[in-house]
Amino acid sequence: MTTTPQVPEIQLNSGYLIPQLGFGVFKVDPDETERIVSEALEAGYRHIDTAKVYGNEEGVGRAIAKSGIPRDELFITTKLWNTEQGVDGAQGAIADSLERLGLDYVDLYLIHWPAPQRGTYVDTWLSMERVAASGLARSIGVSNFLEEHLDAVLEAGSVVPAVNQIELHPLFQQRALREYGESRGVKTEVWGPLGQGKYDLNELPVLTELADRYGKSVQQVVIRWHLQEGVIVFPKSATPERIRSNIDVFDFELTAEDMAAIAAIDANRRIGTHPLEGNW
Ligand code: NAD
Repeated sequence: MTTTPQVPEIQLNSGYLIPQLGFGVFKVDPDETERIVSEALEAGYRHIDTAKVYGNEEGVGRAIAKSGIPRDELFITTKLWNTEQGVDGAQGAIADSLERLGLDYVDLYLIHWPAPQRGTYVDTWLSMERVAASGLARSIGVSNFLEEHLDAVLEAGSVVPAVNQIELHPLFQQRALREYGESRGVKTEVWGPLGQGKYDLNELPVLTELADRYGKSVQQVVIRWHLQEGVIVFPKSATPERIRSNIDVFDFELTAEDMAAIAAIDANRRIGTHPLEGNW
């Protein structure tokens, strides 16, 4: 086992700590998940972000079991899919996810999308609160929620979501939504932190100049930028060398000028589904 890198932790409003840098498994082939998550654990990641809809919770669970890492040193997130929403939705869904993961509890359980057309996300949030009360999820939160969706659960519920997991990368920095949630006690988790490879980070001179200056890759610069922004981030890679390099970001620091230069390239360019437009 390599030495575990010093990943900072952030305190959620539930009181629990979350490692600020983790490993995401969206689009990781279920047949490869055990091997790839094992690579990530070996590289020092202790925070894994999965979801029912990724179809790979079993592989995540097998990698955890095989690792021998004490459960309390790991932070595991999964998410409830839209078809599982409803008044008792979270209670049934968490039981199924825990069985697939082979765990007694998850550290964080999220509503994956508000899917407002269904009209069920507020009822689902109340069901999530019962899951948290039962101890099957230590913290609960949401994903892809806009301001109006946050308002609705804050109004109806008695638990403030611990996080809102949203698309966020150099060309789509989401400062208004971040600020809206954070001012209400909701931490920001980011998905697509590297732009999902949908645009070439190497074509952004601000990033290539910083990468050259610090002797790092553009991906490492972007991950470092997320960490210094204070958000929670879990890049995905299926390549062992990239898995290791994405956590090798604790030997350099961006200056305030570097941070400002990256802030300035925001282009409000969404690459994923708009929360109001998903066909669910
Ligand atoms: P990402 O921005 O992490 O991009 C992943 C892609 O970037 C990889 O497939 C690879 O092509 C490339 N990449 C990664 N490391 C690299 C490196 N070192 N060098 C070169 N290329 C590299 O996108 P993501 O996987 O979509 O997002 C991260 C995690 O966020 C997911 O795995 C998942 O856990 C979560 N997520 C959540 C939602 C949601 O709706 N809540 C949606 C998408 C993703």
